[in-house]
Amino acid sequence: MNYIILDLEWNQCPSGKKNENKDLKFEIIEIGAVKVDDNRQYVSEFHEFVSPTVYRALHKITKDMTKLTISELDKSDKFNEAATRFFDWCGSDGDYMFGTWGSMDLAELQNNCKYFGVDHKFEKPLVFYDIQKLYSLCFSDGKTRVSLETAIDEQKINKEIPFHTAVYDAIYTARVFEVIDFERVKRYTSVDTYCIPDNKEEEFFFNYGTYTKYISRGFPEREMIMKDSRVRSMHCCVCGRNVKRVIKWYSIGNQRMYCGVGFCEQHGYVKGKVKVRMTHDNLWYGIKILKLTDEEGAVQIRDRQIINREKRRERRHREMERRLKEAAESESETT
Ligand SMILES: [Zn+2]
Repeated sequence: MNYIILDLEWNQCPSGKKNENKDLKFEIIEIGAVKVDDNRQYVSEFHEFVSPTVYRALHKITKDMTKLTISELDKSDKFNEAATRFFDWCGSDGDYMFGTWGSMDLAELQNNCKYFGVDHKFEKPLVFYDIQKLYSLCFSDGKTRVSLETAIDEQKINKEIPFHTAVYDAIYTARVFEVIDFERVKRYTSVDTYCIPDNKEEEFFFNYGTYTKYISRGFPEREMIMKDSRVRSMHCCVCGRNVKRVIKWYSIGNQRMYCGVGFCEQHGYVKGKVKVRMTHDNLWYGIKILKLTDEEGAVQIRDRQIINREKRRERRHREMERRLKEAAESESETT
């Protein structure tokens, strides 16, 4: 199995969001990648610029970061040709897995392929390595994210080539990939959600040992997510048995996330989190993570629920007062 360490540079609407093409917010202008083998050793590299067709001027951020110009980019082929050569270089499906710094590149790659009609079938689910996450798991708490340059500095890797050129960033990412304790973190793959499951049968499920991840199919309405029995269900991440719910799902942050707790007779408390997300084609889906916890962990989630309830009550109270005040004012205006 080879790993394709990918880094893209993209451009966005130079005159701001209101003028952007809603189907292509980010247009790829450079594809850089390094192929490494099973032992994470260098095999070959791919580098192409792309002549842009949607945004014919560079956004200030892109210009500052990449130091590129449109006339330079126009010496290259358009996205279709570059992407086709890129996929040919990657190898046959199933022979390689993508690795990226952070989790944005694969979504943008798929969106550009869709927009420009590049005929490439991505694996479903698209499992990849987020090397930024693996780096955090190896050298930090697994949650903090540092920039690629910070990781390079921390690892005292030679910085003889500039950053923010796709192929160089890919080379740096590959070097970080080489120095991490891969065997220890190998199981912590990531899954891209640009394409979510089409139906119940296809729903994604991953077991990472101490936690599980489930990604639901899409729903037209946000409210439908937590009404679905498969999203709501809770199981023990060790034995897989359904668990007794001890704290029912409650929402925090304006229904963007739900929390709950279950209890397995054999393995103890299981804490659950459902993140509510929307796809590029306006479908709502849930990402459920179930993880073993202890009594203290369960108590924390209950405390959070109490605080949350209190906040909601206060909000309702303020809203009521505001309405009463408005009503009183309009009354005094009419009399
Ligand atoms: Zn259990």
